[in-house]
Amino acid sequence: MASKQRAQYIIGVDLGGTNIVVGALSADGRQHHAMRSIPTSSESGAEGVADRIVGLIEEVISAASVETGAHREDFLGVGIGAPGPLDREKGIVIVAPNLGWKNFPLRDRIGERLHLPATLDNDANCATVGEWWQGAAQGGTNVIGMTIGTGIGGGLIIDGTLFHGASDVAGEIGHTTIDLNGRHCKCGNYGCLEAYASGPAIAVRAREVLVREETASLLPSLVGGRLEAITAETVYRAAQQGDAVASEIVRDTARYLGVGIANMLNILNADVVVVAGGVTAAGDALFVPLRAEVRRRAFKPAVEATRIVPGTLPGTAGVVGAVATFKMQHLGAL
Ligand SMILES: [Zn+2]
Repeated sequence: MASKQRAQYIIGVDLGGTNIVVGALSADGRQHHAMRSIPTSSESGAEGVADRIVGLIEEVISAASVETGAHREDFLGVGIGAPGPLDREKGIVIVAPNLGWKNFPLRDRIGERLHLPATLDNDANCATVGEWWQGAAQGGTNVIGMTIGTGIGGGLIIDGTLFHGASDVAGEIGHTTIDLNGRHCKCGNYGCLEAYASGPAIAVRAREVLVREETASLLPSLVGGRLEAITAETVYRAAQQGDAVASEIVRDTARYLGVGIANMLNILNADVVVVAGGVTAAGDALFVPLRAEVRRRAFKPAVEATRIVPGTLPGTAGVVGAVATFKMQHLGAL
């Protein structure tokens, strides 16, 4: 008896400095299976991390096969999102400071071990495409994506296509300058948006205020008096409880992000700006002043044509987008 045509699946990998997330999606993207996350353990080195990724993919293939009845040959390939800069054509991560990598051929390490075709793209590009395909940016034609975490990643969709630029560096919104003589950034420049509004930068600004000023704040009590333990999360929590210092930090963060977004809107006239990552936990306390700042700075027709929204795929946008970039690169369409 002829067997019924079985569904096909694509694996998505989101490699971050802290965690590796892997999942399997049906090739049409509708079904998500076996989403798994493990610590990256970057101290194990590039080869060690590649081993961990391969191990987790094997686990996901097994679990997804149990869930769906799929066979090994039903898995078409692996889309990988990794921190950049990277060389997509060669599949190489050129530099990843958070991982301590230089010129590592990640795509082929993974693909060869699994005997599956693989693609590599920037993690923030993947997150943007993920939100565009299945999340908050659905229906957008020109999309600006920002992922705020340890750093600020960015991705651009222009005229319905993921835009990479001449050497895969396009969309680095986090490293646009918002203050001429501003704070030093990890990239070597001064005054980058990331140096003000990334998670660690938010924590640093909070600590500075507490050290400098004798203001009453909930913040020290939330970390047992150890100011060095303050994170962006602590700041959002204190702001939600009405703490004045934390609220001001969140408002300033919103203004910095608003400046960055206004710059991008005046260049790209995007119809959607999707802001993802931990910062969205601040909710309206962030988005209301952020949108106000954008209104103050960007051209009115650009502001009127856009919606600035939080991401709706927390934790999975990178995996979903990695699958999407595999489809676009390997199958030619989404
Ligand atoms: Zn920078």
